[in-house]
Amino acid sequence: MRKPLIAGNWKMYKTIPEALGFAQSFKPLVVAATHCDIVLAPPVIAIKALADRVEGSNVEVAAQNVAAEAGPGAFTGEVSAAMLKDAGARYVIIGHSERRQYYGETDESVNRKIVASLAAGLLPIVCVGERLEDREGGHAEAVIAAQLVGGLRNLTVTDASRIIIAYEPVWAIGTGRTATPHVAQLMHAFIRSRIREMFGDPVAAGMRILYGGSVKPDNAAALMSEADIDGALVGGASLEAESFAQIVNYKNDR
Ligand code: PEP
Repeated sequence: MRKPLIAGNWKMYKTIPEALGFAQSFKPLVVAATHCDIVLAPPVIAIKALADRVEGSNVEVAAQNVAAEAGPGAFTGEVSAAMLKDAGARYVIIGHSERRQYYGETDESVNRKIVASLAAGLLPIVCVGERLEDREGGHAEAVIAAQLVGGLRNLTVTDASRIIIAYEPVWAIGTGRTATPHVAQLMHAFIRSRIREMFGDPVAAGMRILYGGSVKPDNAAALMSEADIDGALVGGASLEAESFAQIVNYKNDR
């Protein structure tokens, strides 16, 4: 059985005191949640403080990005996977559509970041997703397939078994427009079938595939009830402790 994972991506929101305040309010709200793994991805500057604050609880910490180079080395402004691990991160989000769109992230850089992260012992949450024009043009599956092939190139079965995929249709991120559970399920099943072709059935059967794109307390349970949806990557609704806790507790609220 795949244990669901619910991750909050805070993007460029929250100072260190704000992150710690969130943790203080959030931890008691999810203390009974044993049905899923719970992850918060703060801005990099807050990783250490947040990881210290949630240590010993059922809440874990992710980075939102990582250097493609293993380092150490002369890469001004970059933060290596080893540094993120040392600061207390367990996971790292790689290839988010905002990084692809605004910072030139490519499948090739995604691949290098996955390799660097795995080498340092971080668990990559690899984002894939098609744009609206891809979907409307009937190319959604082809785009996702290309992102999977390029991003996961040359990984071993062992590498792949440590990866989490997040399917985030770009047209649903921050727009309030969620993929219906049925539309999301179809793409998740497609992703799992491609993973099966690339890495075999045990990896595909065990791989957690998260949905991301305007997940809210009122749609989380329906999305999570689909067979191939194994959790959520949540942006806007993860910024308030109460709303993110309601998403985490989707199972108990049903
Ligand atoms: C995201 O940033 O990964 C995301 C899914 O954002 P939102 O939930 O706000 O659509």
